[in-house]
Amino acid sequence: MSLHDLQALERDHVLPTYARFPVEFVRGEGCLLWDDEGREYLDFLAGISVVSVGHCHPAVVGAITEQAARLMHVTNLFYTAPAMRLAQRLSRSSLGGRVYFSNSGAEANEAAIKLARKRRRGGEIVVVEQAFHGRTYGALSATPQEAKQVPFAPLVPGFRVVPKDAEALDAAVGEGTAAVLLEPVQGETGINPLSDELLRAARAACDRTGAALIFDEIQSGMGRTGTLWAYEQTGVVPDALTAAKALGGGMPIGALVTGPALADVLEPGDHGSTFAGGPVAAAAALAALDVIDRPELLAHVFRAGARLEEGLREMPGVRRVRGRGLMLAADLPDAPALVRRALLEQRLVLNATGPGTVRFLPPLVVTSDQVDDALGRLYALLG
Ligand code: PLP
Repeated sequence: MSLHDLQALERDHVLPTYARFPVEFVRGEGCLLWDDEGREYLDFLAGISVVSVGHCHPAVVGAITEQAARLMHVTNLFYTAPAMRLAQRLSRSSLGGRVYFSNSGAEANEAAIKLARKRRRGGEIVVVEQAFHGRTYGALSATPQEAKQVPFAPLVPGFRVVPKDAEALDAAVGEGTAAVLLEPVQGETGINPLSDELLRAARAACDRTGAALIFDEIQSGMGRTGTLWAYEQTGVVPDALTAAKALGGGMPIGALVTGPALADVLEPGDHGSTFAGGPVAAAAALAALDVIDRPELLAHVFRAGARLEEGLREMPGVRRVRGRGLMLAADLPDAPALVRRALLEQRLVLNATGPGTVRFLPPLVVTSDQVDDALGRLYALLG
């Protein structure tokens, strides 16, 4: 079936919620992708920070294959070893409490919002400008972006948006606040790290009022910034975090991880999902964690990120570069057109987060040569 046929099928049968590029990918390995005509692409998007271990990492493929042949699904009415082992691993590698599994990032945030509301009934959820927490109703209500929210009103009540300002945040949090929900590095709106000052103010406000501080690490977690979790670089420890995207090494799985103080809020019957924490996705996540949660790999993320950042700073036309580790963005004029040309002319996969920002989220296993290669392809368009 040709790309043209696929486009016809989409036109006739698929709800048009995505603006796709005219490329069909059929194979991936490490940082490389191949289209239906056998052309090779360098992937600096990693499925939007999902395939951090690289495409089809043999350890992840092996774990999926082995688990799929043994047992694919039984529901959460029964035990399976991968889910219990993954919960232990996530808890030990972060906040030390308990884990609720989901199938996606938005669902992990739904669980976090429900937990916070159950703990402080009727309490507000405080979020900051430019946040993105997902597109289901609770997560969307925490995503203060007019274009995403307005067509779908009414939203879930009880969300308050504050500027990214320590004083404003402190003033907004009170006894009626259930949670402050923050991305330590805002991803979808252009890779904007929140300042340590703001994160400290959030921590202090939550300590003062008993509200829960929840970090959305769906994009920034799993080694993306050079530590397993971005919060480790901020000096601020949240009461809970949410993860997804890279967690499953390419399989759909998310998680709400609590610290000890929030570990007993949810009880049987409070929340659930048929597929969540299924054995295949959990086995894949354990394998992905084996790849990522190693000092050498995390140190590599810092080094490769610094190399990419430096190269971007020297690129003609780049106004500003920001981010952490391999979660980077460059401000450039007409970013969507540049991303399209990068894909179609240079076979470099990138993403624009808006009219003036290109986002770089390569697999964490990207080599120095591949970083230089990507910079070279970009230079060919900008130089
Ligand atoms: N939170 C953050 C920070 C994200 O970057 C995303 C996705 O981009 C989400 C939540 C939503 O995740 P999902 O698309 O898996 O629902």
